[in-house]
Amino acid sequence: MVIFKKINDIKHYIYLQNTSGTATGFVPTMGALHAGHLSLVGKAKADGMLAVCSIFLNPTQFNDKNDLNKYPVSIEEDIELLIKGGCDVLFMPSVNEIYPDGESGAKTYDFGYLDTILEGATRPGHFRGVGQVVARLLEIIQPHNLYIGQKDFQQCMVIKKLVEMTGMSKINVIICPTAREADGLAMSSRNRRLTEPQRTIAGVIYQCLVSIESKQNAADFEVVKKECGDLLAAKGFIPEYIALADARNLALLSNYQKDVPMVALIAAKIGEIRLIDNVLLGK
Ligand code: AMP
Repeated sequence: MVIFKKINDIKHYIYLQNTSGTATGFVPTMGALHAGHLSLVGKAKADGMLAVCSIFLNPTQFNDKNDLNKYPVSIEEDIELLIKGGCDVLFMPSVNEIYPDGESGAKTYDFGYLDTILEGATRPGHFRGVGQVVARLLEIIQPHNLYIGQKDFQQCMVIKKLVEMTGMSKINVIICPTAREADGLAMSSRNRRLTEPQRTIAGVIYQCLVSIESKQNAADFEVVKKECGDLLAAKGFIPEYIALADARNLALLSNYQKDVPMVALIAAKIGEIRLIDNVLLGK
């Protein structure tokens, strides 16, 4: 695996690879890598791409600076995992490289409705930061395929919209399934901060999502939502939202709808750790 820190160097390397016939598959991350991230790299490789991963802890997407300061960092381990996972290129830019005009100087994008609900409502400014960094990284890497995780469902929608808005719609945005632990907990860099007792019960978020899915033909969503809220609270979680939405546009639904592709989404906090997860509702 080749590691680059400077934009000009990585651009030159990718240009040479592309001209010799290999297309680029890009996996942007914030580091503290786990098997979920590696599944994206694996997909890029399986698709025959030059797998390019970036590790950049983007300051502009953290509305809570405490969350940024406590975000896990494990560069040495990340590099080892990426080598084992078959990654070809790692990009590790500095903040100056990504934001040469300062964090406030970067171009911003308006995601409208998507920025007002769920993650947008509870983390003001978060998607503005995501838009800034992803636009900048795409401009640098110019990938053929972009691999992102369904784990961050709303972010996937924001990125799809960004790709359209910036005229980069020739990039194929590939949404990869959520990698989970044995008890269903969605893999996340934040899981490392869970204490042992917190980790033991954290699978309850996925249990709630499964229950929302399994009761879709037999109950009112409000009733299931209340049961999930009670279960989460009984385990020590503070639910931020338990929501049902149209999976095509994230329009919130007050009840299950026949003939509408649906997604159930949960955000909940335990201690200082905020976890999110979602499932698409099959029939
Ligand atoms: P992050 O480093 O958390 O910003 O994540 C980088 C990319 O990995 C994003 O596209 C995430 O959606 C994706 N990702 C994070 N966790 C998982 C997971 N458990 N399964 C699949 N993809 C994931």
